[in-house]
Amino acid sequence: MKQQKRFLLQESDIPTQWYNIMADMPTKPLPPLHPRTHKPLSVDDLSKIFSEECSRQELDYEHAWIDIPEEVLDMYKYYRATPLVRAYALEKALDTPAHIYFKNESVNPLGSHKINSALPQCYYCKKEGVTNVTTETGAGQWGTALSYAAKVFGLDAAVYQVKISMQQKPYRSLIMRTFGTAVVGSPSMSTRAGKDIITADPTHHGSLGTAISEAIELATTTPNCKYTLGSVLNHVALHQTIIGLEAEKQMEMAGEYPDMVIACFGGGSNFGGIAFPFMRHNILSGRKTEYIAAEPNSCPKLTRGEFRYDFADEAGYTPLLPMYTLGHDFKPANIHAGGLRYHGAGIIVSQLLKDGLMRGVDIPQLETFEAGILFSRTEGIIPAPESCHAIAATIREAKRCKETGEKKVILFNLSGHGLIDMPSYDTFINGDLRNYDIPDEEIRQNLDKIPVIGR
Ligand SMILES: *Cc1c(COP(=O)(O)O)cnc(C)c1O
Repeated sequence: MKQQKRFLLQESDIPTQWYNIMADMPTKPLPPLHPRTHKPLSVDDLSKIFSEECSRQELDYEHAWIDIPEEVLDMYKYYRATPLVRAYALEKALDTPAHIYFKNESVNPLGSHKINSALPQCYYCKKEGVTNVTTETGAGQWGTALSYAAKVFGLDAAVYQVKISMQQKPYRSLIMRTFGTAVVGSPSMSTRAGKDIITADPTHHGSLGTAISEAIELATTTPNCKYTLGSVLNHVALHQTIIGLEAEKQMEMAGEYPDMVIACFGGGSNFGGIAFPFMRHNILSGRKTEYIAAEPNSCPKLTRGEFRYDFADEAGYTPLLPMYTLGHDFKPANIHAGGLRYHGAGIIVSQLLKDGLMRGVDIPQLETFEAGILFSRTEGIIPAPESCHAIAATIREAKRCKETGEKKVILFNLSGHGLIDMPSYDTFINGDLRNYDIPDEEIRQNLDKIPVIGR
């Protein structure tokens, strides 16, 4: 009986360049704007917050291929290439004619795809003479990756962790501290942004939006300190394209090409990472592959948000980004997929959604855990609650294939494992987990609070 089949790349076949989809997009994304002057931002503006190289990559609409630095490639090789797996056992359990493949980004010791961008971000900081890095983290995956990458390149790291995630996932804070990082729960009293948020709402349990505000404040008020972000931005998705570029070669080894590419969606980095290298063939040579981003129905920016200029953080410190958003002070329910509790979508993905090159699907929490349990029992890997959204979307499509008899080839990204998230599985198995629906009025009220720009 076939259980799984793995397609593995030689070290020498690991891609040496990332793919920048902005160079090939039919409609270029609108520019990020200065939060107060509303003027388009330059590389110089961005590099007050981010490393110079990441700032350049952020605004690079021109070069489709960007070299991966030697030092970063060397570090990639300690856990890459990651396996592409044909999930025979899952197919059998679903009795579907679809062929299901997944790219397994959970196999590195840090447990998620986030390390793919943490390494280059810290490398560029080090190269530019930066000594300290700061960031926010939701579920703790990005903070974990950044903490290790900072150590690799000899930087000191301070991480603002969303308070509710800190309580739900105490091990993540401990892992970050083990790597030598200073971890602070957000909102905290250590920044002006944090104090303002707590003053307005003393029981605020934190969101990625609050943590980003605090981290940016620290970066802009500390000499030689840069801010790093684990999702949403163009340069982060760029670094993640290593996933799809490897998968492209591995699908070739399998002798197939995906009809559908699916990933879960927080800010868009693992989605962009697996999707963009395939999407270039839709744009450049008329391939018809479908791209599906799976978001929680409690944080539905792709399916129910609006395309607007909005802030990336709660306090309004960040540039204004043209994106699908639920409004920057949208407070997502405390779902266990902490990495998907974010109000907005990245610039590139937002434009692609607007242009009909991809679509979003929103999934209730219980369905995601049902999918995660089936995947665990068939493939032997316990997926991160975030990744369960991709699995649930894949299962929906595989069931549709069963109804229609279509033998579609489905590729999804397994963005991380759930071994640090076992309390959430415990809650589900005990029958204590629930769904969260948000009424239209709540979304409307939040959207009405966004300043109107460029319309
Ligand atoms: C952070 C995270 C996500 C969501 O972020 P994206 O930028 O949308 O990829 C998804 N899965 C895991 C495991 C994560 O850690």
